[in-house]
Amino acid sequence: MTSLLFSRALTPNGWCDDVRVEISGQGMIRSLEPGCRDAALPVIGGVAIPGVPNAHSHAHQRLLAGLAETGAGRDSFTRWRELMYRIVGRIDPDRFQAVASLAYMEMLKSGYTSVAEFHYLHHDAGGSPYAQPAEMGLRCIAAAEDAGIALTLLPSLYVHGGFGPAPAGAGQARFVCDAGGYMEIYSALAKAVEDRPEVRLGFAPHSLRAVDEPLLKEVLAGVRQADPDAPVHMHVAEQRSEVDDCLAWCGATPVRRLLDGIAVDARWNLVHATHMSDSERSALAATQASVVLCPTTEANLGDGTFPARKWLDLEGRFSIGSDSQITISPTDELRLLEYAQRLASESRNVLADESGESLGRVLLGGALKGGALALAQRCGVLEEGARADIVVLDGEHPALIARDGDEVLDSWIFAGGAACVRDVFVGGRQVVSGGRHVNEPEIVARYREAVRALLQ
Ligand SMILES: [Zn+2]
Repeated sequence: MTSLLFSRALTPNGWCDDVRVEISGQGMIRSLEPGCRDAALPVIGGVAIPGVPNAHSHAHQRLLAGLAETGAGRDSFTRWRELMYRIVGRIDPDRFQAVASLAYMEMLKSGYTSVAEFHYLHHDAGGSPYAQPAEMGLRCIAAAEDAGIALTLLPSLYVHGGFGPAPAGAGQARFVCDAGGYMEIYSALAKAVEDRPEVRLGFAPHSLRAVDEPLLKEVLAGVRQADPDAPVHMHVAEQRSEVDDCLAWCGATPVRRLLDGIAVDARWNLVHATHMSDSERSALAATQASVVLCPTTEANLGDGTFPARKWLDLEGRFSIGSDSQITISPTDELRLLEYAQRLASESRNVLADESGESLGRVLLGGALKGGALALAQRCGVLEEGARADIVVLDGEHPALIARDGDEVLDSWIFAGGAACVRDVFVGGRQVVSGGRHVNEPEIVARYREAVRALLQ
């Protein structure tokens, strides 16, 4: 058992001073006691808040960040996808792990403490399964271990190249599984995570473009048999062209088709869901399913703006994700989520509510609660029974000086950003200290080798 003493912390009862946190050998909070002055324990100054779950990541896409910013309009999206497929054609398990470790390290340094990895890169460069079919998924787990981040691994089911169904193209050969192949990977991963409380397994049917409904139902039944509570994540309605293609194929939008064909419920997380009609939005909110919003990626790819005010008015739940890793920071996602609404509505504090809490507190609170549900892990809150995932913001950072309570969160999210993150604990184990990751030199060195080999 470990004990940590924080000078100030955000708890379910609000801001508390001198908070002693007792942590079990499994990394869970056994007790949390405010107003505790224990002379034997060093005080951790600054402001302790729950670590943020990152609910959508494609770790290998970290390699591409910034490389598709030439060319105009739709051409640049094609360029990004072609570049992604080129790298996908080359990356091997060692280099994949090196890239994922770097992405996960950067997540920790920015305030994320857990990640849902939407993992579709299953096979070797020729599209054949590895000798260990779950090799690449196991490398995700190894990368999470290198960095010390908690993980919900979402092996993706990907079969078709488009609606119709269209056959998968050569660039997609590494992603494609049938139901049997998928369950083989899922079972191997389930075995691997058995004794790891910081790793959870879920199911990610890639999208309605890539998976037909009979197959989705068949595999979902297999997953439910293994784990009734497994979270389900699926891309939907990210770009208008996807909605148009689905309409042309079957006369229904992807969200409508999904809601009519599949029993979507609170275990479901729809990634992006940018383009929904008012009636689709209401119907989706009524299922208790969540949306996973990735504002920096959605902005970078020109997807469109998610109407977050309308979603929150329906009491819709949301989580945030770094997705393509164009930048990696929960504050970037939350700031842009709000700013996109401000630009569209020509007003301020659009996502604030009636609680009297500041906007930063409301945004962070939504992402913590929704993120924990999306990852199906006990995290996102500093209370007994939750994992001790704790981020300490530096009260001496210029952006945070003379801020108190919720003002700290507002100044972190809207002004200071990742530079304010000083110390990070996952399951009570310190992984970032003074803004540096404990394995930073090794992780960066391996990444440098991988990125040069893959891009040159
Ligand atoms: Zn995605």
